[in-house]
Amino acid sequence: MSVDNEPKTENNGLYKRLLGASIDAIVSVAGSGEVILWNAAAESLFGYAEHEMLGKPIFTIIPAEMRDKHKAGFARFLNTEKPVLIGKTVEVDALRKDGGVFPVELSLFADKGDTGWAFTAIIRDITLRKKAEDSIMRRSEELAKVNTELCALFAVSSSLSHPLELEDLLTHALRVITKLDTLDTEKRGGIFIIEGDRLVLAAHLGHNEGFLKMHGDVRVGQCLCGLAARSGEAVWSANSDKDARHTIRHEGMSPHGHLILPLKHEGVVLGVMYLFLPVNTEISGRTKDLLTSLAGQLGGAIHNARLYKKTKEESLKDPLTGLANRRLMDAEMARNLTAAKKFKTSFSVLMADIDYFKKYNDTYGHAAGDKLLEGFARLLMALKRGADTVVRYGGEEFLMLMPGTSLAGAIKMSERLRERTEKDIGITVSIGVAAYHEGVEEGVELIKEADSALYRAKQSGRNRVEAGGVAAA
Ligand code: GH3
Ligand code: MG
Ligand code: MG
Repeated sequence: MSVDNEPKTENNGLYKRLLGASIDAIVSVAGSGEVILWNAAAESLFGYAEHEMLGKPIFTIIPAEMRDKHKAGFARFLNTEKPVLIGKTVEVDALRKDGGVFPVELSLFADKGDTGWAFTAIIRDITLRKKAEDSIMRRSEELAKVNTELCALFAVSSSLSHPLELEDLLTHALRVITKLDTLDTEKRGGIFIIEGDRLVLAAHLGHNEGFLKMHGDVRVGQCLCGLAARSGEAVWSANSDKDARHTIRHEGMSPHGHLILPLKHEGVVLGVMYLFLPVNTEISGRTKDLLTSLAGQLGGAIHNARLYKKTKEESLKDPLTGLANRRLMDAEMARNLTAAKKFKTSFSVLMADIDYFKKYNDTYGHAAGDKLLEGFARLLMALKRGADTVVRYGGEEFLMLMPGTSLAGAIKMSERLRERTEKDIGITVSIGVAAYHEGVEEGVELIKEADSALYRAKQSGRNRVEAGGVAAA
């Protein structure tokens, strides 16, 4: 500490002890800008001994690029005596003797004595604090990203538990995924579902008609999506223009990157999701993990949707013959009846019952009887027309619903069925036919009429076709 430039004090001994004991650097500067006080902490902080600094300009410890600003501030205060930094604590950069620049917290005071203004700064090294702050900032940014990703995962998983149609669900998932900040993907992409060797576009985002047309018939193994579908591995492509695997191209296609993820369930690839990326976008390991997890959820959703569809279909089919069961028949009957009433069109039904089937079973066994029923079902399916519905109505009783067919047409069809049964299967069948007419309100009434006709056919000796009493239009 300087003796000559020592500030006036009542108690020099205490003052010196305080300066020496301070863990903060304490530096005083005269109005001229020369250092007049430099305590021990300043020596160790800046690397200059007291004798090196006393009488030296304070700018010695100010980084070059900040000196002009400091000078201007100094001059302004001396001119105006209006404090800007005086009395405040600020964070600035300081310059060490070894040339190192480091952050300090600085509290500045000014006092006017006999020799003019003097400025005193209490300076504290905040390098560690800054590092800690930076690390906290980085971690909170990181946490914000993780939070966004978890939100995306949650959004996708919770949408999976909603009773959405699969296509709505996949579109929703695409929206969530393309909005992910961490991914930097374009708001463009889609999801193909694999059906046999074809990729069927089940959901898409941001495509025009031309694109959709070109992707209406993509095969497993074709282009990047087909590769992901075949290999079950994620496919990343930096630039469509430079990637020979990107085979589906169109006029004026702007270069883009792709990330394509297989959507699997229990190791089986059920679909692929493709995302559009700006050219040369790298994907971080964590983003890959996130997307793989999302892809796993989507794979599960596709599996569930398929299972649901299959179960639903099976619940409407007869397991032995694969024909419609009564539940499906009720719906078809109601639909056809409503249409016939509304548009005044023909609608007929035939009811067929195998003759002496009990005897057949008794003679050849139940298994052979089952085979015969399957064969008869195949014959019905082969003879039916496009809009007709064939139903296994009971054990060996079958119905055919024939919208747009008159009674005469239904009789013809029944005769054909009767003849072919005898010829192809080697047994006989009796058939009752009925056609919709005014006064029929419910399907059961029509079935009853066909059943009565069938009864007459049985009564009249079997292997016959009998028709209901009312002629159709
Ligand atoms: P009818 O000429 O009067 O129709 O004589 P039927 O013997 O065909 O008539 P009945 O109704 O007495 O017998 C129907 C037989 O169909 C009885 C039953 O064992 C058999 N049956 C019903 N469902 C099945 C089936 O799923 N498999 C087999 N193998 N037989 C069945
Ligand atoms: Mg029978
Ligand atoms: Mg019967």
